Amino acid sequence: MIGKRVRIKAKGKIFEGIVMPSFTGNLVLKLDNGYNAGFKDYELIEVLEEVRIQGQKPEIARHEDLPNVKIISTGGTIASRVDYRTGAVTSQFTAEEIVSDVPEIAEICNVDAELLYNILSENMKPNNWIVLARRVYEALKEYDGVIITHGTDTMHYTASALAFMLLTPKPVVFVGAQRSSDRPSSDAAMNLLCSAKLSVSDVGEVLVCMHGSTNDDFCYAHRAVKVRKMHTSRRDAFQSINAKPVARIDYPSLNIEWISWRYRRGERELKLLDKLEEKVVLIKFFPGLNADVLEYFHSKGYRGFVIEGTGLGHVSTDWINTLKRICEDSVVVMTSQCLHGRICDRVYDTGRDLLKAGVIEGEDMLPEVALTKLMFLLGNYDFEEAKKLVKKNLIGEIEPRSTY
Ligand code: ASP
Repeated sequence: MIGKRVRIKAKGKIFEGIVMPSFTGNLVLKLDNGYNAGFKDYELIEVLEEVRIQGQKPEIARHEDLPNVKIISTGGTIASRVDYRTGAVTSQFTAEEIVSDVPEIAEICNVDAELLYNILSENMKPNNWIVLARRVYEALKEYDGVIITHGTDTMHYTASALAFMLLTPKPVVFVGAQRSSDRPSSDAAMNLLCSAKLSVSDVGEVLVCMHGSTNDDFCYAHRAVKVRKMHTSRRDAFQSINAKPVARIDYPSLNIEWISWRYRRGERELKLLDKLEEKVVLIKFFPGLNADVLEYFHSKGYRGFVIEGTGLGHVSTDWINTLKRICEDSVVVMTSQCLHGRICDRVYDTGRDLLKAGVIEGEDMLPEVALTKLMFLLGNYDFEEAKKLVKKNLIGEIEPRSTY
């Protein structure tokens, strides 16, 4: 009902107004005098009209010679805008709205859009990743590329989870915005256009496409399993870690420069393995953290542990005995809170003890990527196989060599 104009009866009177988002469960109406009024007990008389928030819906012309792209919207800042006339209303992000907001997209591809979720990405759960992976899998059978609009906070978790679940022969591009499209400094339109260009290009993998600098001059396409949000608010918050970005897309020319290796379009067969084991935990070690934290999760049935250790991959020596017990029936992967660089547990005694206890070195994987990888492996393979595969590079999440 949000965004619709309704007529209601309450306290013996008739009221008309636009339904606003409400966090209390009460009906909140923006009345014609501009004030908001809340109603607990009311009778709905009539839904009068749907209020268009973003101007007219244009007719979308389809061009036979252009590729077809599906945009799946999941929410976040890129999908939200405030209408200062009516109050806060989130965009529905239909194909018409996208094309009316960013008309240049129609020169790149024919767009179909689907609103899957309208949630802030901090509310994403592994089950949302599974549902999304299935939708993308279906869309890839029909379309030349898929774009997923997503909140930026956890975009790298979702993107990496999808990259493991879905082997794609076509581009699957995640895009977000740090500033909503009603702000002059918004990055939404440019990020979307660069994503559209990528989604019809010669690449066959899951990527994240966001501003490459604080200017409006280029975007980077990052490999989904090598990227991380590294700043709370800058438009170039996303960075490839322990790898180069896959491509640079100049703006406004939209020329693509391929920077590092990539899976090419058509190189892999479309395949979906859509199970995830949710009982996997990521624990950040800090000086003084008690190893009981491991016991706690183990007692709750968790059999996948990713540790964000210090430096080359350490935790304090008094964790070793607990880890030895946990490793008997669990996969424990060590990553580093340095983020940059590779785990090497053969240098110091602590590291060697960790290896003896059964802890697996996570190579140069990001902690979040080790987490989604372990969820994927424990969901789809038996325990011994998962243990073997976690150390193996599957889709570019582990670079063979570290470059400095
Ligand atoms: N909290 C928002 C989200 O992740 C921020 C954003 O979209 O940029 O959904």
